[in-house]
Amino acid sequence: MGRITQFRDPVDKVVLKQDRFVATPEKGRIYGPFNHRLTGGARAMAERMLKFVTVARSTPEKRAADARTGDFHEIYADFIDAKAKEQASRCSQCGIPFCQSHCPLHNNIPDWLRMTAEGRLQEAYDLAQATSALPEVCGRICPQDRLCEGGCVIEQSGHGTVTIGSVERYITDKAWEMGWVKPLQPLQEKPQSVAIIGAGPAGIAAADGLRARGYQVTVYDRHDRAGGLLIYGIPGFKLEKDVVERRVQRLADGGVEFKLNFEVGRDASLDELRAKHDAVFIATGVYKARELTAPGAGSKGVVKALDYLIASNRTGLGDSVPEFESGELNADGKDVVVVGGGDTAMDCVRTAVRQGARSVTCLYRRDKANMPGSMREVSNAEEEGVTFEWLAAPRSLLGDADGVTGVRALRMRLGSPDASGRQAPEEVPGSDFDVPAQLVIKALGFDPEDIPGAFGASELKVSRWGTIRADFRTMMTSLDGVFAGGDIVRGASLVVWAVRDGRDAVDAITAWLEAKAPALAAAE
Ligand SMILES: Cc1cc2nc3c(=O)[nH]c(=O)nc-3n(C[C@H](O)[C@H](O)[C@H](O)COP(=O)(O)OP(=O)(O)OC[C@H]3O[C@@H](n4cnc5c(N)ncnc54)[C@H](O)[C@@H]3O)c2cc1C
Ligand code: SF4
Repeated sequence: MGRITQFRDPVDKVVLKQDRFVATPEKGRIYGPFNHRLTGGARAMAERMLKFVTVARSTPEKRAADARTGDFHEIYADFIDAKAKEQASRCSQCGIPFCQSHCPLHNNIPDWLRMTAEGRLQEAYDLAQATSALPEVCGRICPQDRLCEGGCVIEQSGHGTVTIGSVERYITDKAWEMGWVKPLQPLQEKPQSVAIIGAGPAGIAAADGLRARGYQVTVYDRHDRAGGLLIYGIPGFKLEKDVVERRVQRLADGGVEFKLNFEVGRDASLDELRAKHDAVFIATGVYKARELTAPGAGSKGVVKALDYLIASNRTGLGDSVPEFESGELNADGKDVVVVGGGDTAMDCVRTAVRQGARSVTCLYRRDKANMPGSMREVSNAEEEGVTFEWLAAPRSLLGDADGVTGVRALRMRLGSPDASGRQAPEEVPGSDFDVPAQLVIKALGFDPEDIPGAFGASELKVSRWGTIRADFRTMMTSLDGVFAGGDIVRGASLVVWAVRDGRDAVDAITAWLEAKAPALAAAE
């Protein structure tokens, strides 16, 4: 990586030396690679960008904690036009764009930042959507600090990253507002049909790409709404539901058929879908909640994170949810303890705050630095009044005839690294402490369900963790013409990786169908 050095030239203009652009103290001159003097358009571009030395990093405005905890709306405001342009102009347009290689979709980030800085927003959007089926979703909820922004070169020089996610969100929301998001219109209809099991981000990305290529696409989902965890897992304060719904509507308008309330394994076997369609893509996600093993874990008032979040999201969508109305899955007026340290735990604590919990405590057995959840979400939760008990694990659940009354927890310390290189938590003897709780939410992660058993397909091979085995290149499972991607192959992961798998599945399924096409035609 090129080292960045700043110079101040005789006309007091800050210039810099970096991988691609080199400015010397010599008045007004800017040099490119190999000491090539930049003139004309290249020079103009270099002057429009590279503003990170003079313009500070800034994110879209965040609503104050007091104001935002009274509702489930997103907490970040939109960038105003001038701000997006200004922030995009901080990009250093470096020779090797590490942001792009750190983005699972390899989005063409430097180019759409440059176009945004130049006010060419429609072109910026066209470029952003070329590699991603859900750019406005990823712009909102990717853990950018670990992905694109984590690779941003100017961060290494202490200037603070370009706010890539916020600009991506801005240009895509703008595209929806301006009508630049084109309807899904295949150039040519193709007779082959593809079944997609699961309408989460992997299924949506695959449906988008396959339908654009003209295939007949049917998406099956056991829920009554499409979107997977984007609708029923992730709360509205991170991702408002209409952002997902308009994408689903675009697919439906473009001819993708959604069969909802349709559970594969209950309403049809995998073999039946294989007989009906030319190819199948399994994108069912991972839903088996990891259990708490402490005594008392079966008490009334100890609930699974996803049951809790689904009830909250359904209520927000206007559904009647008896378990919410009865108080079983509602934190209102209660002391709440959430056990776990990932994104799901952060979503639960912040949902509980918004439901009017009396107190919300998160117990996590490692320290803050070792939390799997995004640091941005941890600090949002801290601002909203959540108490974090780091290095603490539940030892038992306290209760009476009415249900759980508290959690007896133990202090932990980090011992020697285990086989994965992470320091294993160890109990500190005699360090028990009690936390009051009338609602305890288990957010310890998810494992795959028994898909071969549920689908009546014992020949479908799975790994020792239960994830479906798919060839990393062809994405094909052990069954001919059956492909798989997203969390059900990777284990619990991220939206952006699900979108990537959906996109790759489009190429893999197309290649397979095209190779089969002559044989199919001959058989007809
Ligand atoms: C609470 C929570 C918060 C998260 N927050 C973030 C975040 O901030 N950022 C981020 O990047 N990632 C986040 N994630 C992870 C992210 O949501 C997942 O990695 C992503 O949704 C996986 O996409 P997928 O398409 O593989 O599966 P899913 O989104 O899980 O979709 C799978 C779909 O398959 C359907 N299905 C399952 N079985 C069947 C069946 N037998 N028949 C028919 N349909 C079936 C399900 O109903 C579901 O709609 C979060 C996850 C959770 C649980
Ligand atoms: S998809 Fe995610 S990682 Fe890639 S550029 Fe967008 S926000 Fe960054």
